[in-house]
Amino acid sequence: MRRRVILLQRAAPFVLLLLLFSAAAAAQPVEYRVSFPSPEHHYAQVDVTWRGVPAGTLEARMSRSSPGRYAIHEFSKNVFDVHAFDGKGKELKASRPNPYQWNVAGHDDAVRITYKVFGNHVDGTYLAVDDSHAHMNMPATLMWARGFDMRPVRITFVPPANYAWKPATQLFPTNDPWTFTAPNLQYLMDSPTELSDYTLRSFKVRNPDGKEFTIYTAVHHDGDPSVIDDYAAGAEKIVNEAAAVFGEFPNFDTGTYTFLGDYVPWGGGDGMEHRNSTVVASAVSFKNPQAARSALGTLSHEFFHCWNVERIRPKTLEPFNFEEANISGELWLAEGFTQYYGPLIMARAGVTQANPARLVREAVAVINSPARQFRSAVEMSQMAPFSDAAVAIDETDLPITFVSYYTYGAAIAIALDLSLRDRSNGQLTLDDYMRAMWLAHGKPGGPGPAIIAKPYTLKDARDRLAEVSGNRRFADDFFDRYIEGRDLPDYTRLFARIGLVLRKRNAGGAWAGILDQQFGGGGRTRRGAAAPAAAPAGGVAIPNLVNWGTPAFNAELEEGDTITSLDGKAVGSLDDFQSVLRAHKPGDQIAVEFTRHGAAHRTTMTLAEDPTMEVVTLESTGGTLSADQKMMRDAWLASKQHR
Ligand SMILES: [Zn+2]
Repeated sequence: MRRRVILLQRAAPFVLLLLLFSAAAAAQPVEYRVSFPSPEHHYAQVDVTWRGVPAGTLEARMSRSSPGRYAIHEFSKNVFDVHAFDGKGKELKASRPNPYQWNVAGHDDAVRITYKVFGNHVDGTYLAVDDSHAHMNMPATLMWARGFDMRPVRITFVPPANYAWKPATQLFPTNDPWTFTAPNLQYLMDSPTELSDYTLRSFKVRNPDGKEFTIYTAVHHDGDPSVIDDYAAGAEKIVNEAAAVFGEFPNFDTGTYTFLGDYVPWGGGDGMEHRNSTVVASAVSFKNPQAARSALGTLSHEFFHCWNVERIRPKTLEPFNFEEANISGELWLAEGFTQYYGPLIMARAGVTQANPARLVREAVAVINSPARQFRSAVEMSQMAPFSDAAVAIDETDLPITFVSYYTYGAAIAIALDLSLRDRSNGQLTLDDYMRAMWLAHGKPGGPGPAIIAKPYTLKDARDRLAEVSGNRRFADDFFDRYIEGRDLPDYTRLFARIGLVLRKRNAGGAWAGILDQQFGGGGRTRRGAAAPAAAPAGGVAIPNLVNWGTPAFNAELEEGDTITSLDGKAVGSLDDFQSVLRAHKPGDQIAVEFTRHGAAHRTTMTLAEDPTMEVVTLESTGGTLSADQKMMRDAWLASKQHR
């Protein structure tokens, strides 16, 4: 694969014609040159040339979204000093039909655009340039042109003079260590690149058919290089355990997979999956070896994505649209199932100690979330453009009407895994379902890297469950009720099969639904308050939007109201509020005095029983696991590697 692409760059036009498309011109690569003349000022100098440009207007664009990110990010905001030229070097005027686009007319058969782009944000989405590295997410860095999506790309990076930087990327290598290729725009945009003096480690993995791949960890960090030996050893265990779920590694396009680690105190925290690499970043110092161990959690999640979402890909994300936000109703599966498997794989691999109650915590979060009355898992997924690193100036009610598709999807994965085990007495598991999705939708691949031939729909995901379970009615019921509907699976029964107990946290306790930090997601307010604040005139302010259906909601209390007295007793602190509750039973009606917009009000609140659930192991309640419970739990947590 690597060799063939190099050949394409040097092949005569008639060979290109045979290998690629109908017109010879269509194969002329788009050429980029990206340099960093003064990295301390946080900008890249980009030079891009399109050849074989059809007559008319060339529409050059900066992306508005990035693969794996679902909110709009206006990358064009950081582009400046733009110049356009024709093939003879004559400068042309670029017009701006919209904020993301530069139109170039009056050209010959080539257009060259040069620009600067600022970036100082280390994560999986943006560009970060400083004197320690250039960390490039391509949609934040590279301009592209409409109609050139299938053109091959040739890109050369120019490090600043006298810097000990090396490139790390999933782009295809050439004989020049600083020049790479991509077969098409989708692959280019999917290929984050790190230039720095990183620590490189590698290990080999092997598929059942004997094919070997090299896995790299290229880690930019501030610690001792020996820390990366442990990091890479952990990565190797995780990588092999993840492959055991699917039965094999994907056929990595370059024969390699690279973890692009960025762990610097001035960085940011993120993980972003790609086909043959991932960005894993955290604003930590690897001078502390514990930080390196903690970083493996993100790595485990992201590696699972090289099957789930990168190749087992929802049709809604294929191809990825760089001009709009991408809406997908399947993120509960793409992200949520990945969220479930990340820590489970680490436990199976022995990288972490298995904590059964913790491995199902997302299910408990969904059980406790009042938001699920408003949106199904599919509908939660479709909210990603407004929740995934999206910035709003106005207040939204997402804290009380939205539960993340990561959490919701993990809760569904837990229910489906345990349901399959329950129905088959441990013969079938979620691993079988993931393998079926892989064989039907991931493994078939596509006509080229980053082009998926068999992306799945919601119906496909349902049909695969019918096949794996051998029971269409079970699959339909599960999807209708728990994925497209808003019902909760019978977690009490499912947890019991592996010796976990779902119980009320505060059975019989009186509850108001406010000023209880343990409840629900504890949404942030527009003021960013984390805890109830004592109001200047006495009383305690409600810091968050009030959840629907709670006693406080029914009593017409809302965020910002200041409770001054409860059941006739003055309230000056959270403790005052909670001690009144403790003196009451569910069903009691108590008087509430509060102020709103400076005026005093009173209302009556009917207390309810605290509905908050928690999960604990049977052993921790003094019980003993039955032989069946022990067998089911051990099978769930055991390594799946046969070596
Ligand atoms: Zn993810």
